[in-house]
Amino acid sequence: MMLEEMGLTPVWRLRQTTGEAGPASAVVSAVDSESQQPVTSQAPRITNHESRIADSGDRRAEIMRMPWPEIKARVASCTDCPLHAKRNKTVFGVGDENADWLFVGEGPGAEEDAQGEPFVGQAGRLLDSMLAAIKLKRGDNVYIANILKCRPPGNRNPEPQEALQCEPYLHRQIDLIRPKLIVALGKVAAANLLATDASVASMRGKVHRYRGTPLIVTYHPAYLLRNLPDKAKAWVDLCFAVKTMQGLQGGASAPN
Ligand code: URA
Repeated sequence: MMLEEMGLTPVWRLRQTTGEAGPASAVVSAVDSESQQPVTSQAPRITNHESRIADSGDRRAEIMRMPWPEIKARVASCTDCPLHAKRNKTVFGVGDENADWLFVGEGPGAEEDAQGEPFVGQAGRLLDSMLAAIKLKRGDNVYIANILKCRPPGNRNPEPQEALQCEPYLHRQIDLIRPKLIVALGKVAAANLLATDASVASMRGKVHRYRGTPLIVTYHPAYLLRNLPDKAKAWVDLCFAVKTMQGLQGGASAPN
């Protein structure tokens, strides 16, 4: 019923036959990887596509068992999608591994690719200011990660297959961190985490869930740099996030 409320049931139904997986891969697994057409037949059929899903299930299961050192090494040497060919550095994520707050962006840009750390460019400086505005600091009860660990050429949006391959890494990071609240930064992060094509505007101001963890959506800092008036909306979102966190922490004191 809850999935129906969120409009997720058609894409989730298929996924249930392939073992554990998150919502982003649910969307992709409903698309035939050869024809790139939606799989519409309800009749069971054994295809290469399905055996590849089984393979990816093994990969996912393996990643989902990894402790921090192993998953960091796995990401650093990952060649599971074509993005590895052009990257300089993988961008694993950074911060407090026991953080209450998890901020999720899209993928590394040029500066992140050069330094191996998320949000270190201009957008990152704005993100740091946004964190400071709610008395948070990178690395202190805050973890920052991306949907993708490698930079897409020209900073284009992630392809579904790239997001699918990368998803277990973030999924495992979230399981290890166990944040109280996830903040999805921008449409790409929200779309992948919530398996929806909804606009950021329509997702703001609500508490969503990512595999049980409360999640709120706000604008991406890079978008805010181009759309300055929307910074006021992002501030509203940050206040909403703080209030939501207070509720999750059982009324613990908030930044003032
Ligand atoms: N934009 C993102 O979404 N992530 C980064 O790490 C940098 C810019």
